[in-house]
This record gives sequence, structure tokens and C-alpha cells, in this order.
Amino acid sequence: MTVIKRVLVTGGAGFLGSHICERLVALGHDVICLDNFFTSQKSNVAHLLGEPNFELIRHDITLPIFLEVDEIYHMACPAAPGHYQFNPIKTIKTSVMGSINMLGVAKRCGAKILLASTSEVYGDPEVHPQPESYRGNVNPIGPRACYDEGKRAAETLFMDYHRMNRVSIRIVRIFNTYGPRMHPYDGRVVSNFIRQALNGQDITIFGDGSQTRAFCYRDDLVTGIMGLMNGPDDFIGPVNIGNPGEFTIRELAELVIELTRAKVNLVQRELPADDPTRRRPDITLAKKKLGWEPTITLREGLEKTIDWFRSIDLDHYRPPTPNFVR
Ligand code: NAD
Ligand code: UDP
Repeated sequence: MTVIKRVLVTGGAGFLGSHICERLVALGHDVICLDNFFTSQKSNVAHLLGEPNFELIRHDITLPIFLEVDEIYHMACPAAPGHYQFNPIKTIKTSVMGSINMLGVAKRCGAKILLASTSEVYGDPEVHPQPESYRGNVNPIGPRACYDEGKRAAETLFMDYHRMNRVSIRIVRIFNTYGPRMHPYDGRVVSNFIRQALNGQDITIFGDGSQTRAFCYRDDLVTGIMGLMNGPDDFIGPVNIGNPGEFTIRELAELVIELTRAKVNLVQRELPADDPTRRRPDITLAKKKLGWEPTITLREGLEKTIDWFRSIDLDHYRPPTPNFVR
């Protein structure tokens, strides 16, 4: 029997948050989705609005809020470089002040709270693949720092609320994740390449395309996150959740061209500052502690994502967020 919980999902209208809301609503929990819609839109959760166990609140987490809940998935933060560099000061405020506000709710209610952290805490890694014990190589004054250092500070806050106030926490370090409902104009590599291929535009490779990433399909990722939240209390993380299959950006472009059958070329663009040269999760800990590993290959996940991109009307999405850094 499922015990019904009151669950808050910050950033619940976003790419990952909306999928978490969907699963929680289906399980019968009372779900509060809290979002300021900076990088998302209401349509991501419109299908849940009629459900009696779903509530949507427009709110900015840098401001306090008083809610009574049992669990919090703390997902709110712009995640794509173009989005988080648009207003870097707001980004770091969201990570730091937003986390303090949500940890305050957790402390007051005795709720369990999970932080969506990131592989970016490893920066441009000198250890490969990256285990959780690696402390990272982050440039604290570069254009990615507002996000990387914000998430590192959020992890610190979570650990200190746990040690000092006994707040029950979980920390997940998410590696590049893609899938249906990612913002088509977020500027991330998967959305850019699929959109470009489907529109018959050349595919923009930043640098020479030899940099690597490991791409996890959304459903695998959300299963891992929920496994951590519902896992044993003596395992709080941080834990890497991601797909260890590593690809160069050029290989990704070639796969997208093959799957879309697009007649387009690869064109090179300048590599953004501090762009990590390689990234791949070591998921030994997730396998051992949560019995979790991804099940969906990049080819399968891309096929599902391409089908979704074919089904949407781009006019229903806000145009790209200008990125003043690039
Ligand atoms: P997303 O941009 O789709 O979702 C983030 C959501 O947070 C959006 O709905 C946005 O409107 C909301 N938000 C942003 N600032 C807010 C604020 N101040 N107050 C209230 N709401 C706010 O991104 P996503 O890919 O779904 O990422 C969700 C979380 O996972 C983020 O914390 C991100 O850092 C983390 N993450 C994602 C990835 C990935 O590859 N998708 C990788 C690493 C970490
Ligand atoms: N990238 C690219 N072309 C694009 C968008 C991104 O070559 O149109 C590269 C980017 O420089 C980086 C990788 O793809 O090396 C992943 O970028 P993304 O913004 O998706 O996420 P990151 O992992 O860098 O946060």
C-alpha cells in the first residue's frame, strides 16, 4: 500500500520537474508544483491541472514561502548554459537563497529534501570518469561559475542543515539528461542538434567536437532520483546519476543526422570559455547503494526525443534566451 505524502517539487514545471510531478501524481501523492516559469511554461504541466492531487503555485524560490509538506524535490534552477548565464547573479541567488528557503521549509516541517545537484560540481575534470569522491576543478571566476559554485554552495548548505539541524537530506549529481519536454530553445546540445536537423539547418559544433559528454534519458534519470529519495536513510549521497556511455559531440551530431535522415552539414563555431573537455559518471555507488543503472541507450532515447520534437509546435515556446557571455 502506498502511504500518501504531501510532496513539493520546486522547478516542477521544468523538463525534469514536470516528469517527477507526473510520476508522483500517478502514485496518488498530493503534489505541489512550485515554479516561476523562468525556463519553462505552464503547458508542461497543463495535463496535470485537472487532477485533484495536483496544485500549481507561481513563486520565486529566492523569496520565502510557508507550506506544509512531507518531502521536497528541490529541482528549481536554470540548467542550460544559455539560461543560467542570462542572469548569473539571479542563478547563484536561486541556488543559495532558494536552497536556504527550501531547507527552512524542510526543517520546520520535518520534511525530507532532495537537492538536484550536477556533474558541473566537477568542473573541467582532471579525473576520468568522475567518482563522487573527486572534488572537482571549477574555475570560480568563469562564466559557468554562477551555476557550478551555486550548486557547490547548495551541497554545502544541505550537508550543514543535515549535520547541524538533523534535516533528512539527499543529494543527487545529475549528468547531462535529455528527452521529451526539454526546452527546444535551451541551447543545449541535444535540443540544438535535433532542432537544427529537423529544420534542415547545419549542425553547430562548438570547437572541434572532440569534447565528450555522457547522455542519460529522462526516464532513467527520474527513476534514479526517486530511488534515492525513497532509499535507505543511511544513504544520503552525493550520488552520481547518469549514463556512463560516453560520446564525442561530433559522434552525437552524426547519430542525430542518421536518425533524422537530415541532409545537413556540420559547421564549427567557437568553443565557449571553460567548456569541460570530457565528462562521464562513475556510477559504482548508485549501482551498489540503489541498485540503479540506466536501461535506455542513446540511440533509443534519441529516437523518442526526435519523435517528440516532430510533434511539437515551436511557436508555442519562447524564443532562445539571449546569452550575453557568448
Ligand atoms: P529546467 O530549466 O527545465 O527546469 C528548472 C525549473 O526551475 C524551470 O521550470 C524554471 O522555471 C524553474 N526555476 C528557475 N529558477 C527559479 C526560481 N528562482 N524560482 C522558482 N522556479 C525557478 O531544467 P531541468 O533540466 O529540468 O533541470 C532541473 C534541475 O536539475 C536543475 O536544478 C538543474 O540544475 C538540475 N540538473 C539538470 C541537468 C540536465 O541535464 N537536465 C543536469 C544537471 C543538473
Ligand atoms: N555544444 C555544441 N553545439 C551546440 C550546443 C552545445 O557543440 O549547438 C557543445 C558544448 O560546447 C558542450 C556540449 O555540446 O561541449 C554540451 O553542451 P550543453 O550546453 O548541452 O551542456 P554542458 O554539458 O556543456 O553543460
